[in-house]
Amino acid sequence: MKILFRLLLCMLVAAATGCAHQRPLATTSPTAAAPAANPADTAAPLLLISIDAYRYDYLERGLSPTLEMLAKTGVRAASMQPSFPSLTFPNHYTLVTGLRPDHHGIVNNTMIDPRLGKFSLADRRAVGDGRWWAGATPIWETADAHGLRTATMFWPGSEADIHGHRPDYWKPYDGHVSADQRVDQVLAWLDLPPALRPRFLTLYFDAVDHAGHRFGPDTPQVNQALRETDAAMARLVRGLKQRGLFDKINIIVVSDHGMASVPLQNSVLIDKLIPLDQVQRVSLGIVAGFNPKSGSDAARQQFAAVEKTLQQPQPHMQCWDKRHIPARFAYGRNPRVPQLVCLANVGWRITTTSYLAREKGHISIGEHGYDNADPRMQALFVAHGPAFRVGARVAAFPNVDVYPLMTHLLDIPAAANDGDYDAVKDMLKPAAQ
Ligand SMILES: [Zn+2]
Repeated sequence: MKILFRLLLCMLVAAATGCAHQRPLATTSPTAAAPAANPADTAAPLLLISIDAYRYDYLERGLSPTLEMLAKTGVRAASMQPSFPSLTFPNHYTLVTGLRPDHHGIVNNTMIDPRLGKFSLADRRAVGDGRWWAGATPIWETADAHGLRTATMFWPGSEADIHGHRPDYWKPYDGHVSADQRVDQVLAWLDLPPALRPRFLTLYFDAVDHAGHRFGPDTPQVNQALRETDAAMARLVRGLKQRGLFDKINIIVVSDHGMASVPLQNSVLIDKLIPLDQVQRVSLGIVAGFNPKSGSDAARQQFAAVEKTLQQPQPHMQCWDKRHIPARFAYGRNPRVPQLVCLANVGWRITTTSYLAREKGHISIGEHGYDNADPRMQALFVAHGPAFRVGARVAAFPNVDVYPLMTHLLDIPAAANDGDYDAVKDMLKPAAQ
């Protein structure tokens, strides 16, 4: 499917939606700042920015003037398709490896591995354990092997020692670090002397995701998060201009997935369908997963009965044995994918009666993780810099293609991946292809 997407180039017209709301950027003098890049250091740095859960169409709300400016003077994709499941950790690791979650091994935000035990986002020990991530080679590892310095201002996987490698500069995830502080750290890394300066950097913003989960995508709170995140982007652009770097750095702005509205009453109560005490519950939420409770004959028989029940047509969700998940999801071969996988229909969640009662008031009414072909799950892609065409609009493409695009820009070999450089190379200027 990756080659299905033909690149469509056209100039963005000045009358594009939202332009009327565009705020002028603060004027800055390029002479006012830190020393310009060493002329001998010609290889452009590459900055990969993730705005978690920035749905592709948020850009039309007129609340992201800096992103609009980058799109207008760079490249914008109509949208970018996340990999399945459209969850945060699986897709962030896809972006830096080019592998589908089934291939890189971060198959969900919550997993059970027969050897390693349980993985969840909140478990710092598991998140920092390189063995969970070792099924793939993140781009910073390859960059390191080719003598390039790397820096991550938060990125899933960057806290773990993977195959003996970490980024040269990295930070343990801390949601209290403000968006401005994150931007300032990236600028500080770019201020390092050439021998120490990173060539590949990441930057991560999460306010849009938090607001989307708590309030739903079509709310003033998400709009406020969009404004705040764009203000941080404007701070970044100002800082780059002050350093004379804005036209010398390649910037790729992506999101990991979109966001859908999920009213509280749209809850599939799984405990009303199956005896939950007879299975191992791996995950609930949008992608629920279950395994036999043990290897005993009794447990297998109980599980077979559960499978039979859930594989009947169910309202608001669909369940498959992992061997029979539709091929377009590219999901089910990894040992960490549970034996039985249930996917909620968009706008629904899979939960339990007791969880709903206990957590009422804290339950997300915005969600993602759904079918990665659904329009509400589609992600953002904007790119700007010396390698990118100016004012180019390209068709939607799958997020596995970002990785080979980045290894090309860094001039390092790509590890085996599911992406296709040829499908996205036309967004680069001919001289940069
Ligand atoms: Zn996310």
